Amino acid sequence: MTDADRRPRIVALPGDGIGPEIVASARRLLDAVGEFEVTEHPVGGASIDEHGTALTDEVLRACESADAVLLGAVGGPRWETTDPDAPRPEQGLLGLRKGLGLYANLRPVRPSAALAHASPLREERIRNTDLLVVRELTGGIYFGDRGRSEAGAHDTCEYSVAEIERIAGTAFDAARARASGGKGARVTSVDKANVLETSRLWRETVDRVAAEHQDLELEDMLVDNAAMQLVAAPSRFNVILTENMFGDILSDEAAMLTGSLGMLPSASLGDGGPGLFEPVHGSAPDIAGTGTANPLATFLSVALMLRYGLERPGDADRIESAVDAVLERGLRTPDLCWVEPGRPPMSDVPAEVEVGTQEMTDAVIEELQRA
Ligand code: NAD
Repeated sequence: MTDADRRPRIVALPGDGIGPEIVASARRLLDAVGEFEVTEHPVGGASIDEHGTALTDEVLRACESADAVLLGAVGGPRWETTDPDAPRPEQGLLGLRKGLGLYANLRPVRPSAALAHASPLREERIRNTDLLVVRELTGGIYFGDRGRSEAGAHDTCEYSVAEIERIAGTAFDAARARASGGKGARVTSVDKANVLETSRLWRETVDRVAAEHQDLELEDMLVDNAAMQLVAAPSRFNVILTENMFGDILSDEAAMLTGSLGMLPSASLGDGGPGLFEPVHGSAPDIAGTGTANPLATFLSVALMLRYGLERPGDADRIESAVDAVLERGLRTPDLCWVEPGRPPMSDVPAEVEVGTQEMTDAVIEELQRA
């Protein structure tokens, strides 16, 4: 068997709360997409219960040798403690990010047309929004020297040329992967070059790297303008490339454009090794075990895994279209069933049909098989 014939190896880490429910649904979806070798391991609270630590060396090694890692969510009241020495579920996530050398966080924002009314923005503003925030994860002010004196405090923002080149490369590759779906490869690099020296280095470096890629269109934008444009005209963006702190803020602002936490996927990528793909939401302990968890953010994370982790953009497109189709049919898990008080009924929005995790999963798989 050649390497090309080998089934992609995926490590699935269900984690805690609704994690096992949504990952079980994702595994059914993967079975419908193609042949994958999936192995499952505990992480977070589940691993603390079994092994006394949120991430064992064995699980990290399994992840390192996989082609991609799919995570549900970790955490819950059961493991909350004020004891600083007690193991915490989030240590599992941090250990994975560090162990896999993940330095790029990707968050797509593509509000489904059928859920446009759930956005805090007016429908005509949100329509046609389909953007990707690529955030640098390991540098900048969050990791620079910091200190405190009697009279004040300081945090230092530092970036090396190599760190900027690396994340620019990720954003340009992502723009190309998206361009295969018919969009142009356009990147907006966000900085504060009118004030910050690190931003001037950022801009110089990104412009230089972009010049080596003739197929890319690059624009530089100041962060204050980007924050404004994201709510004024979100559909003008394609890929937004930015540093750690600006990305932290802008990715949350962009995520809220959809208005639905249960719909947001994310990817964390490193240098050639396996990426980590997970929904943005947490373990939702309040609804765990009720069969009502929305699996769609996890399905969209599977789509990201196929596009950016396993080089199967066609399968990623198929999943995203199947998710759109079930929403167009009006199927909604309870978290998506809301009608804004006082808003008149809209004729172009289908009647909502409330379904649980299993029915939603069945419906997406049906759509996938129909296509
Ligand atoms: P949360 O995202 O788990 O839940 C917030 C609200 O959204 C809850 O009402 C929940 O029921 C709802 N919700 C979230 N995902 C949903 C889904 N797929 N379907 C339907 N409803 C959904 O955030 P929280 O309550 O602040 O945190 C709960 C736990 O999750 C905490 O232990 C927290 O540390 C952890 N957490 C983990 C991650 C992660 O694993 N990446 C991220 C955030 C929070």
